Amino acid sequence: MTTVLGTCHHDCPDSCGWVATVDEASTDNAATGPVVVKLRGNKEHPFSQGELCPKVNRFIDRVYSPDRLLHPLVRTGPKGSGEFREATWDEALELVAKRVSDAIETHGGQTVLPWWSAGTQGLIQEGALHPLFFAKLGSSRRTGSLCGVTASGGIAATYGDPKAAEPSNVQHSDLIILWATNTKLTNRHLWPFIEKARARGAHVITIDPMRTATAEASDEVIQPLPGTDVAVMLAMMHVLIREGLIDQDYVDSYAVGFEELVEHVTDWTPERASAICGIDAQQITDLAIRYGQTNNSFITTLIGGEHHEHGAMLFRTMACLPVLTGAWRHRGGGLSKSTGVWSEAQIDFGAFQRPNLWDGADRRGLNMNHLGRSLTELSDPPVTVLFAWNGNPAVTVPNSDLIREGMLRDDLFTVVHEQFMTDTAALADVIFPACTQLEQLDVVPSWGHMYVGFNNPAIPPVGESVSNTEWFRRLSKAMGFTEPELFTSDSDLIDTALTEGSLHGIDRQALERDGFVRLDVSEDHNPYVEGGFATPSGRAELVSERLGEMGQPRLPTFIAPEESFIGADLSSRDAADYPLTLTTPKHHVRFLNSSYSALPKHGPPEGGPFIELDPVDAHKRGLNEGDNARVFNDRSSLTVPVRISERLRPGLVAVPFGWWAEGYEASNGSTANALTSDTLTDWGGGVSYGDTLVEVAAVND
Ligand code: SF4
Repeated sequence: MTTVLGTCHHDCPDSCGWVATVDEASTDNAATGPVVVKLRGNKEHPFSQGELCPKVNRFIDRVYSPDRLLHPLVRTGPKGSGEFREATWDEALELVAKRVSDAIETHGGQTVLPWWSAGTQGLIQEGALHPLFFAKLGSSRRTGSLCGVTASGGIAATYGDPKAAEPSNVQHSDLIILWATNTKLTNRHLWPFIEKARARGAHVITIDPMRTATAEASDEVIQPLPGTDVAVMLAMMHVLIREGLIDQDYVDSYAVGFEELVEHVTDWTPERASAICGIDAQQITDLAIRYGQTNNSFITTLIGGEHHEHGAMLFRTMACLPVLTGAWRHRGGGLSKSTGVWSEAQIDFGAFQRPNLWDGADRRGLNMNHLGRSLTELSDPPVTVLFAWNGNPAVTVPNSDLIREGMLRDDLFTVVHEQFMTDTAALADVIFPACTQLEQLDVVPSWGHMYVGFNNPAIPPVGESVSNTEWFRRLSKAMGFTEPELFTSDSDLIDTALTEGSLHGIDRQALERDGFVRLDVSEDHNPYVEGGFATPSGRAELVSERLGEMGQPRLPTFIAPEESFIGADLSSRDAADYPLTLTTPKHHVRFLNSSYSALPKHGPPEGGPFIELDPVDAHKRGLNEGDNARVFNDRSSLTVPVRISERLRPGLVAVPFGWWAEGYEASNGSTANALTSDTLTDWGGGVSYGDTLVEVAAVND
């Protein structure tokens, strides 16, 4: 037996270190030879501290699942029929090369669309070689992101960049506000740091429209209506100013636009906000006073708040709060969202864009959240070749019925690299088998802590599967490309990003030996103790001229989303076609996004998809626990069992996302995201899943 250090690759802020135990000469499995027999958390890892999670504790089942795709497949039946035959790598690559070349000859390079997400989140397996490959093709460019970009863009509007506090500094705080984040489920390794603060007497408040597991474990819960957080924040500013809780010295020294902001929030009384966000004015007042009276108040947030039409404005406004109270001066004070910006300062992510193998005119950018629109609406040129890897867009991207409609086009040639027959893979023409994190080399920069992880492959790729980087090397060869950069080895790719052009350089030897290294940032570092904001003014911009130039409000501003009842007469809900707001939260302890739901030890124990309603809304529709209900809007319709709970407020319903179509009892391929809005966010390039209206009706069997 040997042990191999690695790092979890999932799109999760915790980036846990792990230890794989390998039986080097196993004959006790379909895979003879080296077999992983145990996977546990690395006890030495400072953030994850030896614990994985219920999803990844059973990761070996995933690696050796009988359902894994182990050979290339070529479609034989009609599109979407799921009928494929095995092919050799050579045959599949030759077919792809011919179809891609033909499509480019007919329509030009931009007829090719690459789509990838963060299914494997890692330095090279997520980011390397494909930029060069698609530049060489002259393809359309994928822009935007499902998560992260809107929040970062919002914070950067106030601070100049999205730099924020180290999350584990929450342990030094006296007031912790968990704003739109279900920490215990989606950031579970942060919770022990919160408990450390609590042991010293810290007060924990969760602000979330839904009474989540995190809310239940908090000292106080505030449940604003979805998409109304900016109104709460403006009223908090009003109270902070009215009650003299501004750190005037900090504001005068390090911020710009305070006087204009004071004027701007004069009318934002807690009563006015209350009418919008549906919580008591007194609760807002108390929140603001407690926040302003605590020096080291700490706001922790992740991505939930950004999935709204005005998600960037939410984060831009949130970022103003610790400036006004001077919380940034104090250890355990400030705002934490993503630590990714710290990695970006010390790892040369741009290395993977060099050299630019495209020497033509600008390539068009297509937002990844608009995949359905790109596949169904474009003609100049149309998208006739889709490459999809590192994600399952037919399940995870909003307005997903439109994606399915596009992928069913006979004139679209779709190439997928996957571990399983996902809903997206089932719509492909050619599927190549992808390996898992236990079978590939990578470095994992975290966005939830300050440690960079190393991932040594524990075993060779199972079957004929390959890593993303190897896939692109093979595709490049099949296309007849000869530029040496397209064939760089994984190890050399890592060296390039860690050392060449990097500001600090990360010690690769230590990284490989220990499985992680800390970024060059001290543990007590607080980025804005003495200002140092990266804005043009060098100050925190309470008023932002740059936003004005972008056509956005210069000041923090509440704007109701198009698809909502916010700001409308709420009685109009009753008369509306779609009177309920839908949220599609992460709900399952054994799932992560669309990964795992089809695995027997993950999906079935979670009990299948459902709709959760407040008793008031259920009663109005004559729905009882366990009834089947139809959830619908003008985008799609789903039939799911009813769960009645008081975790939601009236007007808000929840259908957790992550289930593939096969998880629904009756589905024509639709999943939760068939209902969600694909309206892009105000800036940043994200999308507004959370601004979705639906109606729910009983199904009469
Ligand atoms: S999914 Fe998140 S919590 Fe689970 S092992 Fe991976 S990084 Fe850790």
